[in-house]
Amino acid sequence: LPKMRALKVFSNVPILFVTGSVDLDSQNACWEAGASDFIGKPIAPSTLLHRVRTHVLNKLRYEQLERLTYKDSLTDTFNRHYLNENVDAVIKQVKRFNGYFGLLMLDVDYFKTYNDYYGHQKGDKCLVEVARAIKNALHRPQDTVVRFGGEEFLVLLPFTDEQGLKHVADNILTNLTSLNIPHEQSPIGRVSISIGGVTCKLDLDNDHSMSKLIKAADENLYSSKSNGRNQYKSTIIHVEK
Ligand code: GH3
Ligand code: MG
Ligand code: MG
Repeated sequence: LPKMRALKVFSNVPILFVTGSVDLDSQNACWEAGASDFIGKPIAPSTLLHRVRTHVLNKLRYEQLERLTYKDSLTDTFNRHYLNENVDAVIKQVKRFNGYFGLLMLDVDYFKTYNDYYGHQKGDKCLVEVARAIKNALHRPQDTVVRFGGEEFLVLLPFTDEQGLKHVADNILTNLTSLNIPHEQSPIGRVSISIGGVTCKLDLDNDHSMSKLIKAADENLYSSKSNGRNQYKSTIIHVEK
């Protein structure tokens, strides 16, 4: 049970113990293992039903609150508040293993003219599609998409090196190409994005601030834009000892 609790998907799942041994030690063992509730036998069916209902309701309420607090409702990606609250923990974990950390900054090309030409509602729909194209390129549970600004997204990729980052960025560009969302006002006639990436090997001896990584990714994004958009550029940050 503690192993299950450590996994994100199970961390919030109600787990009820139904047992015949109601001595204090067994009860304590259940609580310590991560039980949400404990019901001793014999069980009254209506009590079991109501307990389960209460736990399920609480879980749903918690998830709704979490969604409202941490998610962007349009694109169902995380918001900046989530980024601010969680980024330190993510960086710390990668540091502990001397791992690579990858970061992508993405921005929709010619999006102002898209809105002007197709209207804001179509613009919103387009953002949802772009977010989907990004999410579909990610395959690890710890990879996180953040809506960083209006039409700007950030992807956090813990334990991802330069090669892995390029792989993900290429997949995002390919996904968007296959979506083939028309954009009459773009030189290529469809919606595209530009991407700036950065990777850095993290370690416990050095300070690696997220803002430094974001700044580097942003500079590469700017290069991708000025080199003609619809492309990816990245650099590796080396930390001097
Ligand atoms: P570039 O290729 O250089 O990125 O040009 P751009 O037109 O995409 O860049 P700019 O930053 O000038 O335009 C961003 C536009 O994104 C401005 C705004 O109309 C639009 N936008 C921002 N947030 C939203 C949103 O939530 N919904 C919609 N529909 N449009 C948005
Ligand atoms: Mg922008
Ligand atoms: Mg843009």
